[in-house]
Amino acid sequence: MTTLNITAQEKRQISAGEPLVWLNPMYQSAAAAPDAPDASAILEAESRLLRFAPLLIELFPELSAADGLIESPLIEATVLNTEINPLAGQLFLKADHALPVAGSIKARGGIHEVLCFAEKLALEKGLISDTSDDYRKLTAKDARALFAEHQIAVGSTGNLGLSIGIIGAALGFNAVVHMSSDAKDWKKERLRKRGVTVVEHNADYGAAVAAGRAESDADPKSYFVDDENSPRLFMGYAVAALRLQRQLADAGIPVDADHPLFVYLPAGVGGAPGGITFGLKSLFGEHVHCFFAEPVQAPCMLLGMAGEPGSEPTPIYDFDLQIDTDADGLAVGTASQWVCDATRDLLSGVYTATDTQLYQQLLKLKTLQDIEVEPSAAISCLGPTMLNTEVGKHYLDSHQLRKCLKNSTHIAWLTGGSFVPDKEYQHFLDIAIKISN
Ligand SMILES: *Cc1c(COP(=O)(O)O)cnc(C)c1O
Repeated sequence: MTTLNITAQEKRQISAGEPLVWLNPMYQSAAAAPDAPDASAILEAESRLLRFAPLLIELFPELSAADGLIESPLIEATVLNTEINPLAGQLFLKADHALPVAGSIKARGGIHEVLCFAEKLALEKGLISDTSDDYRKLTAKDARALFAEHQIAVGSTGNLGLSIGIIGAALGFNAVVHMSSDAKDWKKERLRKRGVTVVEHNADYGAAVAAGRAESDADPKSYFVDDENSPRLFMGYAVAALRLQRQLADAGIPVDADHPLFVYLPAGVGGAPGGITFGLKSLFGEHVHCFFAEPVQAPCMLLGMAGEPGSEPTPIYDFDLQIDTDADGLAVGTASQWVCDATRDLLSGVYTATDTQLYQQLLKLKTLQDIEVEPSAAISCLGPTMLNTEVGKHYLDSHQLRKCLKNSTHIAWLTGGSFVPDKEYQHFLDIAIKISN
């Protein structure tokens, strides 16, 4: 068993399901990430997404206005800022809840990985001559027939399944999604309507992934998207950093020693927030401060990052927690070891929050900004509050950030929600209103 870099008090808080801020002692320690991936892979992922853009417009006409890029706006949230940010500075919302095609942050990573596989097959079989060819050829009969011989499988709590299932089926693959017990019925229905096979598991996310992986491995024509272990997903997610860099520049927001950037990222198994952190750190270095956010009942990334480099992440079950949360996108019991090892020196810290707190943020987003998100995404809005705690202030002090907080930029990364059916969202809102009264 790995030694965990957590204090006795933090240990007690985690076991008791109390919110906390954990500062990463291995932040900026070169020894913490001996096998860090090569950042040039982010540019490769960005190029691949550009190569496929014309094809994506054919498959998803809603992408034509954005030239085939799957991207979301960066929204300045002035009203919400006064309400949720006690630190000064500007608040922005990264609107991935409205990412086209998949309706969540899973769009970039999931679609990138499926495109990697499709591209490899198409090149091998000569359907496209090289990477400068017209990828719209892949909508032709011969390409679809080839893809139909192949299966793409994935295990998911819901949103990754949506992303992989939708792009997989759109290209003509035989798509199979293994859903954990947390997955919402409407996500399963949405996939089945598109011809995706949904396998329901009465088990947690880790078990759904394991079952999907085993079934897929037994079939030589099946490709498994391994959320616990995937550089392709990770680099697809990391592309968001390049896009954000452009958006910040367009908004005239500098990121430098006098203008720190704080980014709050909801975390499940770690791929999406890890990839984005990796991308942002490669662009902005020490001037960006990335914090992951997790439900008190599923702090798997906290436990994973607190472990020693190269060690297996500690499951939340070791702390007698049961993933009892409405944040289904974050309902993961064990972090990805690959992601922990890739980003252990990059992450500033992790904070946790109760479901009550998530619903309070969900309500504020609705009433103050008219933005509808799923509970998982709302956790990002607690970032500035958590940095204003005693532990948070310790971070600000030790990095000499207090003096430039008035110039700071805070980004709450809204990770999912636009596909949530009205009835489901109304249910979230009812809970939120009840809690707040
Ligand atoms: C998947 C997901 C996340 C976190 O991504 P991981 O790669 O699992 O860490 C956050 N928010 C939502 C809504 C998600 O679906």
